[in-house]
Amino acid sequence: MAELTLRGVSKRFADVEVLKDIDLHIEQGEFVVLVGPSGCGKSTLLRLVSGLEKVSSGEIAINGKRIDGIGPAERDLAMVFQSYALYPHMSVRRNLSYSLRIRKMSRVDIDERVSEASRILGIEPLLDRLPKQLSGGQRQRVAMGRAIVRDPQAFLFDEPLSNLDAGLRVQMRKEIRELHQRLGATSIYVTHDQIEAMTMADRIVVMRAGRIEQIGSPMELYERPANRFVAGFIGSPA
Ligand code: ADP
Ligand code: MG
Repeated sequence: MAELTLRGVSKRFADVEVLKDIDLHIEQGEFVVLVGPSGCGKSTLLRLVSGLEKVSSGEIAINGKRIDGIGPAERDLAMVFQSYALYPHMSVRRNLSYSLRIRKMSRVDIDERVSEASRILGIEPLLDRLPKQLSGGQRQRVAMGRAIVRDPQAFLFDEPLSNLDAGLRVQMRKEIRELHQRLGATSIYVTHDQIEAMTMADRIVVMRAGRIEQIGSPMELYERPANRFVAGFIGSPA
């Protein structure tokens, strides 16, 4: 997988600047969590990295190579949303293979990738089911499987666990972290849940109103918050 760099990235919608001069470097293998109140620009930042939105100014690079000018398909990054983003009319197998079939990968290679991802996630027995025949946790594993099969440069998670119940959320946090480790992945993970950020992150990026307030390990932010906002945000329960 890859390292990711944002330099002076800003984003305006009409005349409203929702991201302001964002500088962020993510090392290969890092699990970086973006956290901050609703509306602070977390999803927009992910959408700029994935290419679903264009930057207004600034640069985004993967392994030193600029990607801000190219389309989402060529960026080779995988977004993971909430589990309801599965295609409801397709079996699990087809949900997993869809992006590969679009890329015109050979049948043999597709089958191999799908088997490997299903084995890693423990969803082999579910391949012929439809999403509606799965539990919340199973759906979330399929959503992750869809990201893994593409063998992307990095994973971009946008609040993937927010519609799961509390117990399952705790379990899936662990599974996502283990998966990240096992694949040697580079991941950006968005949440508004402080506990999720504290338990999952190598480094946390605290955002407020389109700016980065502080970047640091969970321990650093907890022990040396840069200001009251960070202290309040990391200190208060989810
Ligand atoms: P978060 O994910 O942190 O909750 P978002 O990135 O979704 O925040 O949104 C940041 C701000 O940008 C919000 O004020 C939101 O209303 C605005 N915004 C997001 N997408 C658009 C868009 N396509 N057009 C106009 N405004 C948008
Ligand atoms: Mg969001």
